[in-house]
Amino acid sequence: MNYLSTRGHPDRKRFCEILLEGLAPDGGLYLPETYPQVHTATLAKWRALPYAELAFEILSLYIDDIPPADLKAICAKTYTAEVFGTDEIVPLRELEDGVYLEALSNGPTLAFKDMAMQLLGNLFEYELARRGSELNILGATSGDTGSAAEYAMRGKKGVRVFMTSPDGRMSPFQQAQMFSLQDANIHNIAITGVFDDCQDIVKAVSNDLGFKRKYRIGTVNSINWARLLAQVVYYFAGYFQATASNDKPVSFTVPSGNFGNVCAGHVARMMGLPIQTLVVATNENDVLDEFFRTGVYRVRAAVDTHETSSPSMDISKASNFERFVFDLVGRDSARLRQLFVDDLGLQGSFDLSADPAFKQAAGRFGFRSGRSTHADRLATIRDTEKRFATLIDPHTADGLKAAREQITPGVPMVVLETALPIKFAATLVEALGEEPARPKKFEGIEALPKRVVKLPADAEAVKAYIAENCD
Ligand SMILES: *Cc1c(COP(=O)(O)O)cnc(C)c1O
Repeated sequence: MNYLSTRGHPDRKRFCEILLEGLAPDGGLYLPETYPQVHTATLAKWRALPYAELAFEILSLYIDDIPPADLKAICAKTYTAEVFGTDEIVPLRELEDGVYLEALSNGPTLAFKDMAMQLLGNLFEYELARRGSELNILGATSGDTGSAAEYAMRGKKGVRVFMTSPDGRMSPFQQAQMFSLQDANIHNIAITGVFDDCQDIVKAVSNDLGFKRKYRIGTVNSINWARLLAQVVYYFAGYFQATASNDKPVSFTVPSGNFGNVCAGHVARMMGLPIQTLVVATNENDVLDEFFRTGVYRVRAAVDTHETSSPSMDISKASNFERFVFDLVGRDSARLRQLFVDDLGLQGSFDLSADPAFKQAAGRFGFRSGRSTHADRLATIRDTEKRFATLIDPHTADGLKAAREQITPGVPMVVLETALPIKFAATLVEALGEEPARPKKFEGIEALPKRVVKLPADAEAVKAYIAENCD
């Protein structure tokens, strides 16, 4: 399997070459040259597999430069009941007639990002050992991504994590989750500033090519193809749990921010998994909902990005969206460049409303969308508690609301649960007047010793800290 860049760079790469890379050299995103097709006989074989083996089968179609026995061992080590809480790994439960919740957030940090990041940690350790190389991951987080990365990389040989976060701006629970890690290879850096300052620092350090090369700086952001690929697996696992046979269609609703999660659903659908509809659920930051309704993709300025009660979906542009649009325009990289380089670069938007391709988004590709507000989230959380005695987090609530607007009778609708309610306790308290129960392993974490350094919002200070801690 070879990978290409959405922007037309002539190079073709193998999986392990792009594993440790971010963007392609021309600024595009990597995608497989073709989507392997999965037929009924294969689905029948896969239906009975435990999650780790299903992951191995799917990953094998995209990874041909890791020996199968090694890849199998990596999957087996990653997807265990010990790490994810159940043998099913992503158990499905029916909420009401035909509406299901697929639990993706029982991993170490209680959000779905663990599903991919845990695999990434093991793939990184494997590949770095094979190359005799090291990697220093530099990131910026306002919550979920940073903690998922740290819990995936803690104790891994050859990897260090330098994670910046805005000082005092994460929830006490999120801070405690990250700062209580005592592993020598994990470095928490609290920046005096806001999240944008952290992102600017990461950009500035990555743009210093000499420093980047000398200190082997890498990232783990959501454009990483390996993360997306890991997420394809739970669409298959959800499909098998929601159906009794492989001729039945299923729809999925996905609380979306950077379009990574739902893009994995798109890949599963392109492979031939019988997905009828993919519903993109957004909050007040409705860049994606606007596109699927109107054909206009209009990125927002930082000042127009709302701080909402589903903060992991607070985005001004969706970094994985280019992958889908590449397929939408028939994999025409010249057209793709015109949209993402020329139009977005010049005017901050592009307009496909008059392009016949836009009709395909809903047609051939099965996309729909929906949008929620803070009031919707509170109402959905209350209603779900009252009628089904089930607590859901604000992101999952955004999903459930959008899902109900797109139901086709007779087609199961699976809503992806992207976090556990305890991570967003303040909103649960606002909705229900009480804190959600906390898993045992997180009891009292706020009182644990914290391992964090405070630095000014200055790329040079962060570089000096990395240099000091790299031997
Ligand atoms: C990251 C995240 C999302 C958004 O996922 P994308 O892949 O960026 O679309 C939604 N909900 C939660 C809880 C998250 O952590």
